Amino acid sequence: MADGLILFTDIGDTIIDEGTEVRDVPGGVVRRAGCIPGARETMLSLHRQGMTIAMVADGLVQSFANTMAQNGLAHIFAAKAISEEVGAEKPSPLMFRAAMDRLGLTEADKGRIVMVGNNLAKDIVGANRFGICSVLLAWSPRYRHVPENAEETPDYTIFSPEELPALLERLGRARD
Ligand SMILES: [Mg+2]
Repeated sequence: MADGLILFTDIGDTIIDEGTEVRDVPGGVVRRAGCIPGARETMLSLHRQGMTIAMVADGLVQSFANTMAQNGLAHIFAAKAISEEVGAEKPSPLMFRAAMDRLGLTEADKGRIVMVGNNLAKDIVGANRFGICSVLLAWSPRYRHVPENAEETPDYTIFSPEELPALLERLGRARD
């Protein structure tokens, strides 16, 4: 287990398969959605092993309440930063700062934080600018996977959620 690491995670196309989202109206609350293959099991396993997990996601509070409850993941988050209530979207540092504050973390903890997400312009740029480790989950066909500049370049790239625990294990060992 990657002791001491803290996982920040995006939701859309990182845990939830955006292709399965059902909304009442375009842009409205997501009523239901399914997970990317392996994402649910991976997150539950990391949580059971004691990993601190924070949600850092752009969208509506009720959307995430719905989809996380449906997929049995509502209990795994030690903190949530959701753009609707933070008042900013990734890559804004306000999103990452909110998650840190809610976990009681300080600047000294930044080296322990790993952000995983699917979106280069939001998740990867946000994490890189904020000064935390960035991991691209290059699973979804809905967004590009090739960085256009240095800020979009992830520290690590994985292609399925199941690759995340081994990467975290490796990063945790490197810190020891
Ligand atoms: Mg996403």
